[in-house]
Amino acid sequence: MSAAAVDERVYEELQALEAIFAPDIVIKREDGVPKSVEINVLPSTGDKSDEQYVRLTLEVYLTPEYPDSSPKVIMRNPRGLDDRILSCIQSDIEDKLLENIGHLIVYELIEMVRECLTQCNLPRGQCVICLHGFVKGDVFIKTPCFHYFHSQCLSKHFIAGKKYYEEEIDKLPTWQKIEAKPYQQTCPVCRSTVQFNVDELKKAPPPVESIDAQPFHLTDEIRAMQERMAALMAHQLARGGVIGVGDTEPPPLIITDPADQEEPKSSTSGTQNAPKPETSSSVRATGNSNASVAPASPTRPPYRGPYRGFNRRGKPGRRGRGGSR
Ligand SMILES: [Zn+2]
Ligand SMILES: [Zn+2]
Repeated sequence: MSAAAVDERVYEELQALEAIFAPDIVIKREDGVPKSVEINVLPSTGDKSDEQYVRLTLEVYLTPEYPDSSPKVIMRNPRGLDDRILSCIQSDIEDKLLENIGHLIVYELIEMVRECLTQCNLPRGQCVICLHGFVKGDVFIKTPCFHYFHSQCLSKHFIAGKKYYEEEIDKLPTWQKIEAKPYQQTCPVCRSTVQFNVDELKKAPPPVESIDAQPFHLTDEIRAMQERMAALMAHQLARGGVIGVGDTEPPPLIITDPADQEEPKSSTSGTQNAPKPETSSSVRATGNSNASVAPASPTRPPYRGPYRGFNRRGKPGRRGRGGSR
């Protein structure tokens, strides 16, 4: 299909879209023939861009017959939107396309999606740190990677993360301490590096739902789940790994013996890798043949639970989870 066969109105529409949405819109062309339109859609919040809590990327693929046949529309990278809202938007898009065969529709689609996002401009789901939802009155923050946390929860996460980092650095020999990178805040969801003022975050009130939350009680149901999980963990440990990928392959993570963990302290030889405090706990990734990683062999000592492999600081408060009381 040549550029000349494209409906003249399509060129006009794309030109108008570029004028309206540049630089947020990408129009892809092949040999001069427009193929697709891609745009990050954000809710309308006036000039308050820090109050845009949801977003998605809309991709519109133009058919050779467009506008006499509907373009194909795909939503990607949704943030702050749950499946229910996404399927609502999806069906609105489908209705709109059906009603408008023969008409230029890309601008209207973008504006319709923007309107949907404006209507539901509150993050859905839970704060992954406290597991409470976001409700009216909550003070929460959006990271540049579009993840959401109660401000106070995020401050606690950074404070704990920095403390843990410093404790791990303290365990290293001096030459490794010197080379260690300084602590860097990362997003608890996607690990993008972020930069927040912890003292400011700390001033926020606790999550609204946490104030009236029922105190935690160990119910029979939770107890039964703990037993199931402990049995699963024992099974995995017996196989020499924490996360198995089927019974035929070696586990991607293996647990080293306590003696291995002491090694970084006493050894000053060059066999250690660069300091990696976040992986120096008792669980190490396999996949490299570092000498300090214990082989996953059936001869390892049997599991004597409760498992404490992830309890990196041996905090008594976390000890009970998944193990016996
Ligand atoms: Zn929270
Ligand atoms: Zn993130």
